Amino acid sequence: MGGNNPVNSNRRNHDPEAGDRPRAAFISAPALWRNGFGGKHPLKPQRLARTVALLEAYGAFDTANVMRIIPPLATDKELQLFHTPDYIEAVRILSAGETLSTPARKFGLGVGDNPIFRGMNEISRLKVGGGLAGARLLLDGTCTVAFNFSGGLHHARPSRASGFCIFNDVAVAIHWLLTQGRRVAYVDIDAHHGDGVQAAFDDTDQALTISLHQDGRTLFPGTGFVDEIGHGRGEGYSVNVPLPPGTDDETCLSAFRGLVPPLVRRFAPDVLVTQLGVDTHYLDPLTEMGLTTTGHVALFQELAALTPGRWLACGGGGYNLDVVARSWTLAFGVMSEQEFPDALPEAYRERYGGQWLRDREGPVLDERSRSRIRRQAEETVAVVKARMGL
Ligand SMILES: [Zn+2]
Repeated sequence: MGGNNPVNSNRRNHDPEAGDRPRAAFISAPALWRNGFGGKHPLKPQRLARTVALLEAYGAFDTANVMRIIPPLATDKELQLFHTPDYIEAVRILSAGETLSTPARKFGLGVGDNPIFRGMNEISRLKVGGGLAGARLLLDGTCTVAFNFSGGLHHARPSRASGFCIFNDVAVAIHWLLTQGRRVAYVDIDAHHGDGVQAAFDDTDQALTISLHQDGRTLFPGTGFVDEIGHGRGEGYSVNVPLPPGTDDETCLSAFRGLVPPLVRRFAPDVLVTQLGVDTHYLDPLTEMGLTTTGHVALFQELAALTPGRWLACGGGGYNLDVVARSWTLAFGVMSEQEFPDALPEAYRERYGGQWLRDREGPVLDERSRSRIRRQAEETVAVVKARMGL
């Protein structure tokens, strides 16, 4: 399922055609969508298959500055950068259909959000391997941006699965970057708070974590409030921006622009790591945010402008299959500086339907609610600015 070394199918390090454009790596393997939680679980592997189908239909990989990477499985040693040996072993045993001596629920597995499925060990390791492969390619200068679109599993804890996340590819990759002596700024725009990543680095000043998300009083995991700012040496290096349900493109962008660029620039990271969950979309079935693909693209562009020349972009949530494929296609367009035509390619349309790449409609919100939401978000931004000394 990918072997032990990253396979670079069309490495074009010094291709003159690529010019000054960013060198973008897209990290994926068909094995990622062969299996999943199954049944009615919202984290459907088709999210990934459909995104790749749309990118392929646009010819997004047929350009000089783009390379496709098949990631290796993360090793035990790599997983142990963040996860405990007993948890790693539990995932391996349960994935093989064997019985564990302790109840699986002790590890957050087999209950609620995280059902056990055959092959979950390999698929979860592939996602972590993707993040690490991307991080390595960034440090050795092979690419300037790597999109590990199956990753972004920001809820997983050292010895517990949480919120559809078994292994935390983001925390493993950031830990690895820190062992390489690099300072990392992490920006998480998923609708859910990036609690697992925040907790992993809340006591260090070498990683700045910023999460914008739907207010934890209204959504899983119920954390991510403005007073969570890190502790010890890490005090002031965890930043949370809870936004009210219904937050639209304009309000989200305004909050982002007021906080993220100044914080990231002041921190001056060596590497930018982002979690690009697109469950903030107004049609997402699990959240109550009100963004459209217009807002998503603007956020991707804001992030692209912040990269210090090394950007590890991870996927994340997003549970409307049509939206996920379109938004992440647009994301990869921003990363590789490709502008895709708005009409969806025929080959894709025939299989999946739809008409346009970019939203032509948005959420319906009355003016009173809109101004209330904007005011609440502005108040939150003001509090965070004051705490962060901006
Ligand atoms: Zn999410």
